[in-house]
Amino acid sequence: MSTVIYPSPIFGPIHSRRLGVSLGINLLPSDGKVCSFDCIYCECGFNSDHRPKKPMPTREEVYEVLENRLKDMSVNGPKPDVFTFAGNGEPTAHPHFPEIINDTLELRDKYFPNAKVSVLSNSTFIHRPKVFEALNKIDNNILKLDTVSAEYIDMVDRPAGHYDVNEIISHLKVFNGNLIIQTMFMKGTYQGKSVDNTSDEYVLPWIETVKSIAPRQVMIYTIDRETPDQDLLKASHEELDRIVELLAREGIYATASY
Ligand code: SF4
Repeated sequence: MSTVIYPSPIFGPIHSRRLGVSLGINLLPSDGKVCSFDCIYCECGFNSDHRPKKPMPTREEVYEVLENRLKDMSVNGPKPDVFTFAGNGEPTAHPHFPEIINDTLELRDKYFPNAKVSVLSNSTFIHRPKVFEALNKIDNNILKLDTVSAEYIDMVDRPAGHYDVNEIISHLKVFNGNLIIQTMFMKGTYQGKSVDNTSDEYVLPWIETVKSIAPRQVMIYTIDRETPDQDLLKASHEELDRIVELLAREGIYATASY
């Protein structure tokens, strides 16, 4: 097993644990990773091990390749449940992300009007008005908030530039409920330090914050594939179920992927 670098701009379709038959849209280069985070659990590996030489795909290239794939799928199947912006890094980092969202919604309406459009984002560019506006138009606006501890974020998510978790939380609130919070729970160690965020020390303040953001859903998950750091461990079913139950008690709809 090894970490994964996805084809670009389109990959799959794959069967996603969380999203069904999912056609992947990867706005990052095909030969490496570009992300404003450098998570120690990233399935694409550490940023420094996968510096790309190729550019990001252009808006025109994404449109053409996506349309050709959709034409083919409308004849040969399978029918996608969802178009998922994910892949080798942070999709909203693409300079034409807002325009590409408009193109995708247009092509979705033309070929598979019942399919959803999802974006998996680490939330670092949601303060940009055009990114915010684009994310507000899609069906599943899935935004990462792994914890509210700045120290934990520095150790595990490892933001590349300025990152203030309180600013991010303020921006998440502006979606007015039109978002899904996505949170990774795991255990194990990184460079000898515990990265266990399943205990009350991390879970309870995170739940208080999630309540104040009031998302329409929370998706919690744990490690599924090989990670660049070798000392990370999956959270157990019981630990994830306990967190879902704590959220349910607060009236927050949550799902877990094991
Ligand atoms: S935000 Fe996502 S793509 Fe970026 S480093 Fe973390 S897991 Fe990888």
